[in-house]
Amino acid sequence: MSRSRVQRWAILLLTVGLLAVVPIAASAQTQADVDRAERNREIAEARKSEAYRDYQRVTAQLDEAVEKYMQLWAEREEITYRIQLMEQAAARYQEEAAELNERARSIVIDAYISGQRNLVGSAFTASSIQELVTSQALIGRATERELESLDNLDAVSRQAERSSAELAVRRADVAANQEAAAVVVDEIEELRQEQGAILAKADDILHAAIDRYNKELNEKRVEDARIRRQQAEKSASRPGAAGGAPPEATPGFMCPVHGRTSFIDSWGFARSGGRRHKGVDMFAARNTPIVAVVDGRIKFSSNSLGGLSTHLYADNGTVYYYTHLEGHPTDITSGQTVTKGTIVGYVGNSGNARYTSPHVHFEIRPNGKAVNPYPTVRSAC
Ligand SMILES: [Zn+2]
Repeated sequence: MSRSRVQRWAILLLTVGLLAVVPIAASAQTQADVDRAERNREIAEARKSEAYRDYQRVTAQLDEAVEKYMQLWAEREEITYRIQLMEQAAARYQEEAAELNERARSIVIDAYISGQRNLVGSAFTASSIQELVTSQALIGRATERELESLDNLDAVSRQAERSSAELAVRRADVAANQEAAAVVVDEIEELRQEQGAILAKADDILHAAIDRYNKELNEKRVEDARIRRQQAEKSASRPGAAGGAPPEATPGFMCPVHGRTSFIDSWGFARSGGRRHKGVDMFAARNTPIVAVVDGRIKFSSNSLGGLSTHLYADNGTVYYYTHLEGHPTDITSGQTVTKGTIVGYVGNSGNARYTSPHVHFEIRPNGKAVNPYPTVRSAC
């Protein structure tokens, strides 16, 4: 036999041999395969159920409501910041106007002393400082330097009037925004309860279908966030949006919220005093436990901006920050070392979040500087 014929025989024999073995191997896997197929079929059935569709609908609505709420919040912070700037400007105008007013008065007094009765008369009949300033009698009497002061007073008092009118509009905007936000907060609360009710009623098969749905949804959100970050990197419109935490900075990271939570990528959104948002706001029912995302040393604190806070210092130098907490656990003390998963606080709205829906503001600081925590949190929650 030639060498190639030997090879052909060898292949043929090997194939026959394999055919003899395969049915045995197949029969060994059959039961598991059948079970898996059966479970998949049941899950596929469950995904057609009304309860599953209700869950999907409520989850989508919850996402939308949280997104809307975050936008309203950012808008409100922008307007509030503009109001602050306008109030500062208005205070400066008032100061300037008061000074110029003084000068106008001294012109009137000078006029009285030198016997200009008609001018003094107009000073007393003028209904506003503006009328006095622009009265021909006063202008006729004033020196060039004084005229300049009067002109300035006129300009400044007009500017002050304009800015107080604009302030009134802005304040009305804030009030309308707060009303709209309150409606969304109620909506979030209702949707969260509806979601809870569906989950409470669900059986194992429906839970499996929902788990699968949530997993798919998270994968989609991670991908969406990645695309958004790429776009942000290109436009650089949201400073720092490009940099999430590198995986080596957060090894073994687990979700900071132990329970159902809704959140969006809100890195760089407007915050009070012209600040930018340096974390992720994770909305959850009040008193939902928050946990140590890795092993580390914890520190509890309290300040007017953040309210009740927890810092978690990991051995690799990464710092995690949780704030606006409702409370701290009583069985552990500040300064103590804890293992991953230990409860280190409860969701609330303390500090400057007291008018917001309960949430934990969470930060990741790999090298002492906060980076966008969204990608890390999204893939873990
Ligand atoms: Zn926040």
